[in-house]
Amino acid sequence: MPRRHLLACVLASGLSLAAATAHAEPRLALPVACAIGDTCFVQQWPDMDGGPGAADPFCGSAAYDGHDGLDIRVRSMADVAKGVAVVAAAAGTVKGVRDALPDKLAAGAAGREAVRGVECGNGVVIDHGEGLETQYCHMRRGSVSVKSGEWVEAGQKLGEIGASGAAEFPHVHFSVRRGGEKIDPASGRAIGSGCGRGAPFAGTLFDEGAVKALSGSSTSVLGLGLAGAPVDYGALVIKGAPPVPHAGGDASLVWAWISNLRKGDTLAFRMVSPDGQTFFEGSGEPLPGNQAVYSAFAGRKRPLLPGRWTVSVEVIRDGVGVSSKRSEIEVTG
Ligand SMILES: [Zn+2]
Repeated sequence: MPRRHLLACVLASGLSLAAATAHAEPRLALPVACAIGDTCFVQQWPDMDGGPGAADPFCGSAAYDGHDGLDIRVRSMADVAKGVAVVAAAAGTVKGVRDALPDKLAAGAAGREAVRGVECGNGVVIDHGEGLETQYCHMRRGSVSVKSGEWVEAGQKLGEIGASGAAEFPHVHFSVRRGGEKIDPASGRAIGSGCGRGAPFAGTLFDEGAVKALSGSSTSVLGLGLAGAPVDYGALVIKGAPPVPHAGGDASLVWAWISNLRKGDTLAFRMVSPDGQTFFEGSGEPLPGNQAVYSAFAGRKRPLLPGRWTVSVEVIRDGVGVSSKRSEIEVTG
């Protein structure tokens, strides 16, 4: 602690009292039972920009204007059907639950209008004491397994990730309030109070395990595969990755589905055919703007050969690779 701050603590009893209260707060565990970057992904952080723009707590683009929680997503509604647990970030008393709304992805203005007043969808609010509350939104209908007034332990299952309320993709929206004020759990600071102040996760409310899980890039390759024709990208969020095509057809394509790309990012694709030769290698144009989710394909108009292909994609930002994925895919005749 810098000496100047120490002195302030000694001189102002109010400050030292506040510090003591903060220390009594529980640390928050990851509110999901899935592997970040593998089976679930950070799609949005709270918006720390106080103005009309948006900035995540690390001054990146993984936020939108006014967003007040952390969105942890699964890839698709097919993953929702498998059941991914939402868990209590800390022990406390359940303050409220809702569990009857359908899991329907809200598209456009009409979709948002349909869930007006119930934007959170199926959710749980937990009172952790000391004025600290956590809320979990968009849970799967019928999955909420706790009742109002019930005591829950840290890590106890509350329900499952879904798409109820105002959800354009399947996720849990996790939000934190302290004394009624909306708090970014990554920095421990009020939402909208500015990004990137201090080291990443300085002042965080998260525990060590959660910080470790959330420290990776929010730019993730959600999907990568081979195709014989352009992929129906609208279907990815519903069904997940399309099946591997059979050999033949008119084209041999690699496709990718990526979260949180930034303006200026480029995608570098590579395809190695079953004979070990580089079949395609190339990069697209720099992105003209930020993209919360983005999909693209590349390749050649040649029939798809049977055998074991290797495909890869890398996101290049300011000349440096920030995320990549490589897959080996067996194509049958
Ligand atoms: Zn959200």
